Amino acid sequence: MNEHTPPTLHPADELNAQLLANGHPPQWVNPTAADGYNLVVIGGGSAELVAAVGGAGLGARVALIERDILGGDCLNTGCVPSKTIIRSARVMGEMARAERYGIHLESAPQVDFTAVMRRMRRVRADLSQTDSAARFTDMGVDVFFGSAQFSDRNCLQVDGQDLRFTKAVIATGSRAMKIPIPGLEETGHLTNETVFQLTEQPRRLAIIGAGPIGCELAQTFQRLGTQVTLLEMMPQILIREDKDAAQIVADSLLRDGIDMLLGVKIQKVRAAQGVKCILYEKDGENHELEVDEILLGAGRTPNVESLNLEAAGVEFTRKGVVVDDTLRTTNPDIYAAGDVAIKYQFTHTADASARIVLQNALFPGPKKKFSDLVIPWATYTDPEIAHVGLYAHEAEEKGIEIDTYTVHLDESDRALADGETEGFVKMHTQKGSDKIVGATIVASHAGELISEVTLAMTHNLGLGAIVNTIHPYPTVAGSIRRVGDLYNRTRLSPTVEKVLSIWFGWRRT
Ligand SMILES: Cc1cc2nc3c(=O)[nH]c(=O)nc-3n(C[C@H](O)[C@H](O)[C@H](O)COP(=O)(O)OP(=O)(O)OC[C@H]3O[C@@H](n4cnc5c(N)ncnc54)[C@H](O)[C@@H]3O)c2cc1C
Repeated sequence: MNEHTPPTLHPADELNAQLLANGHPPQWVNPTAADGYNLVVIGGGSAELVAAVGGAGLGARVALIERDILGGDCLNTGCVPSKTIIRSARVMGEMARAERYGIHLESAPQVDFTAVMRRMRRVRADLSQTDSAARFTDMGVDVFFGSAQFSDRNCLQVDGQDLRFTKAVIATGSRAMKIPIPGLEETGHLTNETVFQLTEQPRRLAIIGAGPIGCELAQTFQRLGTQVTLLEMMPQILIREDKDAAQIVADSLLRDGIDMLLGVKIQKVRAAQGVKCILYEKDGENHELEVDEILLGAGRTPNVESLNLEAAGVEFTRKGVVVDDTLRTTNPDIYAAGDVAIKYQFTHTADASARIVLQNALFPGPKKKFSDLVIPWATYTDPEIAHVGLYAHEAEEKGIEIDTYTVHLDESDRALADGETEGFVKMHTQKGSDKIVGATIVASHAGELISEVTLAMTHNLGLGAIVNTIHPYPTVAGSIRRVGDLYNRTRLSPTVEKVLSIWFGWRRT
């Protein structure tokens, strides 16, 4: 039985065919539903895959429902395609700076946009193997393609069949948020769902929203040769991040040649003779911007509408499914994981939340809590910003007194050798102690570096433990250890410092 229409992808080449063959085989026939399932997982993205594989691995009878392509946003329209084209853009960034390293290029490097996008599709197709329908069925999971809808508190309908469940997980993810700009929908625009399907490079691209997605893709397209204008209504890019961290990235984007318009109010968008015009107001004056394409990157909307959550007694708001700290919804038999329920919208959080759900839904005993997690994140601009724990302003709001230690990368031998000294490691500790409460790192590969701090925070290791850990020389990670040195220095009271100075003076004579 198969009432759903298999998805199509542009371009219809062999790489996208491979992706579909794994993530939504065109000839797929849904299985006949079992009498009942221990666990039904709705949505085949990052969160769901963990839950389905984990549940089946434990011997539970599991059904997985996906309406589009397995792998969800991360594989198909998010992390994987974006990080792959970011890599191409990084190469261009390096080449633009080659002279600085004593390398002379005979001619300006040329971007082959078709090849860049094809490489992305190859990586995506190769990775789709891990999320393939065949892999799940091999593990004993019943995979259904179609849109899931609740029909009562313990039953779902998909593709004309009833799936009865003891427990269910809603993990239907999110999509690009629509913003009410007059004319935008009529004029047409790109989102993360369509931008990776481009086969022609836009000459001029406006990106609305300077959050992580907007900034990453702005730098990428700019470095690949598109003239990018980044429009943001706030006075700062990456508004969640500290101002000093965001400023380093902003400076880098400006050096790349991006036109950055902060504090703008977009009034309307219209199409005119094959181009798109954005009318906006900045500093009280009206302006008009002409571009070939517009990309919307101004936040995310949870996918809750089509699920008929009312029938299941599951409450939701415009921010998503309402869950408690154990990720249980208002129906005790239904949990939620990933973007649809959690404000930290990352693949690793979707994964971590699905692990919590699996434990809490399938096993009795003490429940795992989402609030116990230490969650890092990174924005993959060049340089990257990575963060974990509290920002200083959050510590203040919570009434936690902190000490802050910062090591700038121009003090790092490795960063100097690499010529990448713009950035820092900033760590907050509980006042008077070495307990780490938060950290921000700005560095070329900050996303790699933050895991050391996350490990320390997760396992209650303080700066003392970090400083006592040998770091290879020369590494940028050595700057994390140097933060520990700064902390150690503060432990020397003036009296001890004086005594030591006298003692060393005596040893010299
Ligand atoms: C451009 C971009 C770049 C990103 N980069 C990163 C990054 O570098 N690192 C990072 O950690 N995160 C990144 N993210 C975020 C990350 O992709 C998401 O946080 C993650 O995919 C969320 O996983 P999820 O399982 O909650 O949802 P998804 O992966 O979106 O999966 C939800 C699935 O549910 C399906 N579905 C929805 N409704 C129904 C229904 N009614 N019935 C059946 N199926 C349904 C959807 O088709 C989808 O496949 C990025 C996102 C974007 C857009």
